[in-house]
Amino acid sequence: MEFVDSHVHLADHAFDADRDAVIQRARSTGASALVCVGESLDAARRSRELAERFPGVCYHTAGVHPHDAASFDPARDLDGIRAEVGRGAVAIGECGLDYHYDHSPRDRQRAAFGDQLALAAELRRPVVVHTREAEHDTRAMVEEAGRGGVLGVLHCYTGSVALAEAALAVGWFVSFSGIVTFKRWSADDVVRVVPDDRLLIESDAPYLAPVPHRGKRNEPTWVSLTAERVAAVRGVHPREIGARTASNARRVFGLA
Ligand SMILES: [Zn+2]
Ligand SMILES: [Zn+2]
Repeated sequence: MEFVDSHVHLADHAFDADRDAVIQRARSTGASALVCVGESLDAARRSRELAERFPGVCYHTAGVHPHDAASFDPARDLDGIRAEVGRGAVAIGECGLDYHYDHSPRDRQRAAFGDQLALAAELRRPVVVHTREAEHDTRAMVEEAGRGGVLGVLHCYTGSVALAEAALAVGWFVSFSGIVTFKRWSADDVVRVVPDDRLLIESDAPYLAPVPHRGKRNEPTWVSLTAERVAAVRGVHPREIGARTASNARRVFGLA
């Protein structure tokens, strides 16, 4: 089954011992591209090194995660992200709002997210957005950015149908992770509401391994299990989900 892993933290130290083997396994099970997410400038640099070593397979993004928004320095960090885009980063992020963990004060999260959305508008790049228990503010900021022409992805989506629909209405994409295979997942309605041409799938590895690998270190090869679950909910063949989401990923990120 062909697929694109639209969101993987391959630069994470969890992969230091066997990163090349993980990429090889993903390739041999159908991954045609891996979007390696830089959730910090350091992770972005290491993700870029992967993109350089595996051209046409690995791509990188650059941003500052909401968990780290308290230490976001606009001058330094926007310059750093801009430089990564100059070196081929396909998107800005992940950035966003996480009011579940609240690792950074919410006003700092909004400021860092807003600055990255503005940079996305300036550089005409899509954004990869993390949102958790921050629906009201996410919706307002995504709608404003969307009206300004910014495209993006709500990644690892676990939010409401209403927020998904608001993002879809401004042209955005919605990505599902292995969470849709968990026993406690009860939101198949949101998996159904995303149109075929806006749907993405992702591992978010090393986190969130799908059933039956739950609790282990996740890896991109298991995105096929998420595709199977999404396919079952939507009543289509997993291969169709793999192909459609791969083509959507290529379109939103401008992959070769
Ligand atoms: Zn995230
Ligand atoms: Zn992530």
